[in-house]
Amino acid sequence: MNDVVQKPIRIVILGGGFAGVYTARYLTRLLGRRRDVEVELLSEENYFVFQPLLPEVAAGGIAATHVVNPIRELVPKVRFRCCSVAAIDFERRQVMVSQGAGLELVPVAYDHLVFCLGKVTHFASMPGVAEHALAMKDLADAFRLRNHVLRCLELADIEPDLEAKRALLHFVVAGGGFSGVETIGELAELVTRSLAYFPRIDPKEVRFSLVHAQARILPEMPESLSLAARQILERRGVDMVLGARVRAASPSAMYLHDGRALATRTFVCTVGTAPNPIVEGALAQGGFIQAQHNGRAISAFATERTLECAGRPGYWAVGDCAGIPSPTGQGLCPPTAQFAIREAKTCARNLIAAIDGTPKSPFAFRALGILASLGQRSAVAEMFGIRLTGFLAWFAWRTVYLAKLPGWVRRLRVALDWTLDLFFPRDITQLQVFQHQHLHVHHYEPGEAIVQQGQLGRELYLILKGEVEVSANGGGKRVRLGAREVFGERAVLEDTRRNATVCATQAADVLVLSRSDFHAMVKNLPVLSDYFAELLRARHPDAMPAGPAALDHLPPTPGMAPAELRPS
Ligand SMILES: Cc1cc2nc3c(=O)[nH]c(=O)nc-3n(C[C@H](O)[C@H](O)[C@H](O)COP(=O)(O)OP(=O)(O)OC[C@H]3O[C@@H](n4cnc5c(N)ncnc54)[C@H](O)[C@@H]3O)c2cc1C
Repeated sequence: MNDVVQKPIRIVILGGGFAGVYTARYLTRLLGRRRDVEVELLSEENYFVFQPLLPEVAAGGIAATHVVNPIRELVPKVRFRCCSVAAIDFERRQVMVSQGAGLELVPVAYDHLVFCLGKVTHFASMPGVAEHALAMKDLADAFRLRNHVLRCLELADIEPDLEAKRALLHFVVAGGGFSGVETIGELAELVTRSLAYFPRIDPKEVRFSLVHAQARILPEMPESLSLAARQILERRGVDMVLGARVRAASPSAMYLHDGRALATRTFVCTVGTAPNPIVEGALAQGGFIQAQHNGRAISAFATERTLECAGRPGYWAVGDCAGIPSPTGQGLCPPTAQFAIREAKTCARNLIAAIDGTPKSPFAFRALGILASLGQRSAVAEMFGIRLTGFLAWFAWRTVYLAKLPGWVRRLRVALDWTLDLFFPRDITQLQVFQHQHLHVHHYEPGEAIVQQGQLGRELYLILKGEVEVSANGGGKRVRLGAREVFGERAVLEDTRRNATVCATQAADVLVLSRSDFHAMVKNLPVLSDYFAELLRARHPDAMPAGPAALDHLPPTPGMAPAELRPS
């Protein structure tokens, strides 16, 4: 009798968006009761966001929690790990993830790896935009925008200065693609319907502007529908600022490349995306081929039509981080949810085929239609070759998206939100739940560990009150620190793991500064950089050269973490 138990083949999926969750769902269906294959999904959040409905969340038409589903509920038979992917060790076939309260680095082994990491918001090329613009990519963005708009209305209602009031009542969205157009349409609906509660705001004082780099909005749509969308929005009072590109932003204005400035306190930027840092890192070191669009490399994995990464068996890419040859034979598949779901199905089928040694099938799908909601019961749509505008298109839009929402419970909730919205005014409650505080004071009782040796260094600590003990080398080396002394600087500066454990020896209050804030201060304040260079030299004479030059090499932004993998 053969007693050797065969280890299951491990498929690891990175990302819990449309691409990742649907790949996992189709895999579960195809695998049934098979035990020789194990699927694990890794994602930063434990929920899946139905992004096409985010503009409606921002406008208060749908409750925020109704467009998200817990991933565990969507794919109950798949192992789920809520963590952040830090890097990939291609040689050992392991994904390095940071997880848990202490952000420990843990390896996750794979036989097949599926990249579904999407793209990230990236405003760095436009000064001030990261600081002063609002994004429209995830649930927090939508929630933040809704509360911000209501706050502007509250402030405008009591603002005596006319110029300041005008800026508060000017709502600007950059980007004439689907998310920008849908966002301005929904914002216009929210503001217009809320004005009944703000008697000191004259509707004529309210302005909406849509800034777009090209001559026509919704360039993915047939020209007649783009034009119809533009006319509908203009009738609603949206100014079209076309052929204009965003240059910068400040707290009270956004600036265009042509020299114009739009005074506004609400600037939503839907342009500015970048490849996911993990995808960029993998492309740089993993032997992958980069996809090309119109002759330019686009920092996405070039795949075969089977969804397998070109020239890299065992690696797959789906959704926005993949450059998949279009079944039409021209260009690449568009980065949309509609395509991501269909790609996921092909990928799941081909993963099983690769494991079983059966033939793989190419991705084949023609978009069924294209729809954009414009708020206030109007939309533009083309479905099965038929073009619709206005109310009929809006009805089609709602029907299609309701049908596509995963899970009956969410569908019922959204349908109820939509029904109530037809008969009742919008809720203008402004919730202030976001903490803008970057500095936190943490309290520790005697004996409590503040940092543990081996954890990733993400924060710097300043002792306000009490005393702590730093112990390195398994307790072989111990140092006590008291009020006004700092600790944790080395791991944060060098981007390595903690080399010591720190415990409170008395009740201690500790000021906690995030890694990014600390880097910004040390880089820009010579006094501080001198201080920390000196401190590093004194505390770790073996590790750092003396003087301020020691800090010249401050590590790159978080996310890419090859440095984090250095042994402590
Ligand atoms: C406002 C808006 C409206 C849209 N409207 C439409 C529409 O009407 N129709 C349509 O077809 N498409 C629409 N889209 C586009 C569509 O949502 C995207 O194409 C789709 O979400 C791409 O799916 P994805 O899984 O590839 O990426 P994403 O949905 O971006 O998912 C990426 C996942 O990876 C996870 N992740 C990233 N980095 C890490 C890491 N380091 N560690 C762990 N996890 C990580 C993220 O948390 C996320 O779960 C819209 C997009 C937006 C923003």
